[in-house]
Amino acid sequence: MGAADPTTEPFWAACARHRLIVQRCTGCGVHQHYPRPYCLTCDGRDMEWADTTGRGTIYALTVMRLPVIPELVPPYLLALVDLDEGVRMLTNIEGDTARIGDRVMLMWRDRTGGLPPLPVFRVAP
Ligand SMILES: [Zn+2]
Repeated sequence: MGAADPTTEPFWAACARHRLIVQRCTGCGVHQHYPRPYCLTCDGRDMEWADTTGRGTIYALTVMRLPVIPELVPPYLLALVDLDEGVRMLTNIEGDTARIGDRVMLMWRDRTGGLPPLPVFRVAP
């Protein structure tokens, strides 16, 4: 993942400042993620960026037991998280256990090699 795409560059630039932002359509007000050059709801082309609360709910969850990328050593929790803003993100849940429906909160995983930090989540206390 990187910042080569002009559609996703603002997202990664915000990650570098530990801000999780999502697109919002100025026409219909719907949030969407991942970033696209147009609105999936109304086909509008005027998208802005909105901060998120970093709070959400686990929609789906699985334990990854095979290595996919070197920085994630199995086993680890892979989840679809519904942010409170109404968008669904594929992400990593820190820790060993979580359940569908758990409330989660954003945290940041800094990376080496000039890569932007990754937004990940942990179960909210
Ligand atoms: Zn729209």
